[in-house]
Amino acid sequence: MSAHIAVVEDEPKLAALLESYLVKEGYEVDVFNDGAEALQAFMLTCPDLILLDLMLPGLDGLSVCKELRKTSEVPIVMLTARVEEIDRLLGLEVGADDYVCKPFSPREVVARVKAILRRAGTQSNTDQSSRFVVNTQTARVTMDGAECELTAVELNLLKVMSDRPGQIFNRTQLMNRIYPDGRIVSDRTIDSHVKKLRQKLTAMNDSETFVHSVYGIGYKFELGTEP
Ligand code: CA
Repeated sequence: MSAHIAVVEDEPKLAALLESYLVKEGYEVDVFNDGAEALQAFMLTCPDLILLDLMLPGLDGLSVCKELRKTSEVPIVMLTARVEEIDRLLGLEVGADDYVCKPFSPREVVARVKAILRRAGTQSNTDQSSRFVVNTQTARVTMDGAECELTAVELNLLKVMSDRPGQIFNRTQLMNRIYPDGRIVSDRTIDSHVKKLRQKLTAMNDSETFVHSVYGIGYKFELGTEP
């Protein structure tokens, strides 16, 4: 699955420029020109990285970033023309990961995005890389030498959750990530895919649980906890 990037920028030309460069690099891109709308959509689509303009109409980039940080560790790169704001943006209060100063070259933004995704990827995969490998090319998952084949939906489910260990996903979030064609399915369909995925993982290793139900919310992935 290619990384999913949200661009929040109210200048249409700039947003389109960023989008075209990122799409050329193989990323999936969603563009928003309004902070509040973007914030709502993030909850559903769980982007892998957010490019966030500081000056937005309505809810500005600062507020969007602070609000997101209450529930998410997603990498956020601020786009700003206000150099004097930078320390504050990266500080604990706001919690952005990086910034790019306007005016910028789209190439510079793409390079920054790649670097951050690589960094985020290694962070969340450090523990699992040796034990647990999800291979999207062959649709197989390998754990401690055991291997099993997954359906496309199971593979996407596992990839989405295992990329963010510990993060709780509700069924709508999972549905949005595992069906790129925007198909709507029932909660029960999601549950049944999760159930089959769990059975396959248990068949490989029945002494640990990887996919956990979180009562009233959804599911999360954790590496190797007691069943
Ligand atoms: Ca702006």
